[in-house]
Amino acid sequence: MKGLLGHDMKIDKLLIWPNKQLFQRSNKVENFDKDLEDTLKQMFVLMQTYNGAGFAAPQAGIMLRMFVMRRTEAECGLAIVNPEIIERSNETFENAEGCLSFPGVFIPIKRYASIKVRFQTENGDFVEMPFAQTEAGIVQHEIDHLDGIPFIKMLSELNKARIAPLLKKIKRSIKSHRSSQTQK
Ligand SMILES: [Zn+2]
Repeated sequence: MKGLLGHDMKIDKLLIWPNKQLFQRSNKVENFDKDLEDTLKQMFVLMQTYNGAGFAAPQAGIMLRMFVMRRTEAECGLAIVNPEIIERSNETFENAEGCLSFPGVFIPIKRYASIKVRFQTENGDFVEMPFAQTEAGIVQHEIDHLDGIPFIKMLSELNKARIAPLLKKIKRSIKSHRSSQTQK
């Protein structure tokens, strides 16, 4: 069987806005095999390389409902597959969020202050776990990625206007990167 990434392929790409795949809904993970485990491991490496708090599979062009995240209190991270938010607190909180797919953009986003998530581990076991504050924010941010909702979609018009120059800068840097590539 051909793996998730195709034969011998490694995840080494990070999709940057406005890549269309960032706006697509990912598919449920059905096969909990060695290949899935390898992919999640590579996602961890990529998250650490880019110093991210979380990393969702579609950010690497893998359209599957899974992500990895750092834990604030623990050394090791967490792999979350097929997540579903089953409880949401009434209270919300606002936190400055960044996203590896939007380099240099940090913006306050309102999130549920605590949530309970049902998900599967890399082995396919079902788990229910509560998350609060920063971690709850990360989980909600990553689940949005799985639904094709990058965090700028959550912004108020005012904040959209505020980050417009930053988005222009990202577009410019992608263009200059491409033209420098074609010159080689
Ligand atoms: Zn993100």
